[in-house]
Amino acid sequence: MYNKVMFGKCVSDGIAIGRITIYNRRISPDQGSRKIVPKKEIARFNEARKEARGLLEDNISIELADNHATNAEILESHLTIIDDPEYINAIKNLIRKGGISAEQAIENIRDSLNAKFRALDDPYMQARAEDIQDVSNRIIRILVGKNRNVPKLGSATILLADDLSPSETMQLDKNKVVAFVTRRGSKLSHTAILSRTMGIPAIVGVDFPSDCDGKIAIVDAYKGEVIISPSDSVLNSYMEELEKDRRRIDELKALVDQPPITADGKYINLWANVGNIYDVNKAIENGAEGIGLFRSEFIYINSDDFPSEEKQYQIYCSAIRLLEGKPLTIRTIDLGGDKQVPYMNMPHEDNPAMGNRAVRYCLGHKDVFKTEIRAILRAAALGNVRVLLPMIISPEEIWQIKEIFHEVHEELVAEGIPCGYVPIGAMIETPAAAIISDIIANEVDFLSIGTNDLTQYTLAVDRQNTDLEFICDYHHNAILRLLKTVIINAHDRGKRVCVCGEIARDTSFTETLLRMGVDELSVSPNQLLKVKQAIRNARVSH
Ligand code: PEP
Ligand code: MG
Repeated sequence: MYNKVMFGKCVSDGIAIGRITIYNRRISPDQGSRKIVPKKEIARFNEARKEARGLLEDNISIELADNHATNAEILESHLTIIDDPEYINAIKNLIRKGGISAEQAIENIRDSLNAKFRALDDPYMQARAEDIQDVSNRIIRILVGKNRNVPKLGSATILLADDLSPSETMQLDKNKVVAFVTRRGSKLSHTAILSRTMGIPAIVGVDFPSDCDGKIAIVDAYKGEVIISPSDSVLNSYMEELEKDRRRIDELKALVDQPPITADGKYINLWANVGNIYDVNKAIENGAEGIGLFRSEFIYINSDDFPSEEKQYQIYCSAIRLLEGKPLTIRTIDLGGDKQVPYMNMPHEDNPAMGNRAVRYCLGHKDVFKTEIRAILRAAALGNVRVLLPMIISPEEIWQIKEIFHEVHEELVAEGIPCGYVPIGAMIETPAAAIISDIIANEVDFLSIGTNDLTQYTLAVDRQNTDLEFICDYHHNAILRLLKTVIINAHDRGKRVCVCGEIARDTSFTETLLRMGVDELSVSPNQLLKVKQAIRNARVSH
C-alpha cells in the first residue's frame, strides 16, 4: 500500500527521505535465545581477552606518563591475571563442559574465585579477589559491548525503534542516520536532546507497524508525519521540500558572523550545549560565542570504563584549542536518571530521577569526582574554563564541592602540575534551588537555569513519559514565576543568569526570556542561528 501515514510528536525539526531499519533491542544475540557453540564462545573469549589486555596496557602507559606509579602497579597486577593460564583454562573448560556463553563462564569463575579468596581472611587474598573481579568485569564489558546489537546501517537510514537510550543514540553512525522515529520518548528526554544536537530530524510517539523494515519512507519532523512507501508524486513533492529546507538553512548561515544583539541594542551571550568535541566544532561553525553547557557525563556514557583523568583532560584541551579563548563551561558529571552507565554498577532505584544522581553521586564517590576535577583544573591552566554544578538543592552541597575543588587544586600545586582556578556556577533545575536562589547566588559566580529538570520536578511530571508530555510544559506559570524569581535574586547579587534548558531554543519565547532579564542563552549547535535570528528580531525595552 502506498502513502501509509503515521503521526507522532516532532522533537527535532527537519525533513528526511530514506530507508527504514527497525532497531529491536529486545532480540539481543547474547541473551538466552542464542544457540551456544562452545568453539565460537571460546573464540569470542580469546578476542575479548586480547582487547582487554591491549586496553590495560594503554591505561598503564597513561598512568606512568602521569606519574601515577601506584595505579600503574595495580594495573600491572591485572595483566598477570589476564595472562594467568589457570584463570584462562578454567573459563574455557567451563564454556566447553557447561555449554554456556563466554560472559556467563567468566561470571561464574569470577564469583567462585571471589568466594574462595574472600573466605581466606587474608588481606592479600582479599585484594586479589578484587583484582580478579575487576579483570573479569573488564572482559565481560567488552563482550557485552560487542553485542549491544546496534544495527549495521546503510546510507540514508531512517531508524525506527521502541525507544533509544542516550548511549544507543551516541553509538549510531551519524553520517548514515537521516531520521529517528520511536514509539516512546518525549521532547525533553536526553535522546531527543541528542538528536537535536546532532541535527537529525526525530519524531516520537509513533505506533509504527513491525513489517515496515526495509521500506522507503519520508519523515516530516515539522508536521510530525511518517509516510511509509510514498507514491512517486508524494516523494517528488518532498524532494522539493527537502531542497527548500536546505535553502532555509543556507539563509540562516548568513547570520554566522552577525552579533547576537537585539533590535534595540542589547548584547546577549549566545552559547552552545555540547557533549563532545564534534559538537564543539559544530558550535563554532555556527558562530557560538562560547560553550554554556558541556555535558561531561557524555564522556562517561561514551566509554566502556571510567574515563581516565588524561582522557578527560585531552578532551577539554581539544575544546579549549577550538574555542580560542571563548568560555568553556563544563558541567560536572550528571549521571543517573535516564543517563546510566553499566560499569558504575549503580544499585537499582525505584525512582532514579529523584535518586542518587549528579552531585549526589559525586559527593558519595569522591575518587570519581576528584579525577574529573583534576582534569578540569589542569585544563583551566590553558583556557577560559568555568564549572557548573548540576542538581543543586542546598548551599551545603556547594560548600562541600568547593572544598573538594580546593583540595584538588592544592594537590596539583604540590605535585607541580599546572592548573588554574575556575569560576563555579550552579544549575537551577530543582524547585528548591529556584526558591532559595538568593542563597545559592551568594555562594557561586553565576547561575544557569535548566528548565528541563526544573519543569519535571516543579510540575511533578516525568520528562521521559510520552503519555504525560502534554502537561510537561515549560510555559507553565509556575516555571515562569520561578524563572523571574531566579533572575531577580541573581541580579540583586550581581550574578549573571544563563538559560540552558530546551526553553532557550523556543524562538517563540526568546523575546519573553530576554524581557525577563536573561543574560545568556545556551542551545544545541544546530539551533544557534535560529535563536540568533530571534534575538536580533527581539525588543527588550518595555
Ligand atoms: C536541564 O535540566 O534543563 C538541563 C539543561 O540539563 P539536562 O537536560 O542535561 O538534564
Ligand atoms: Mg538537568
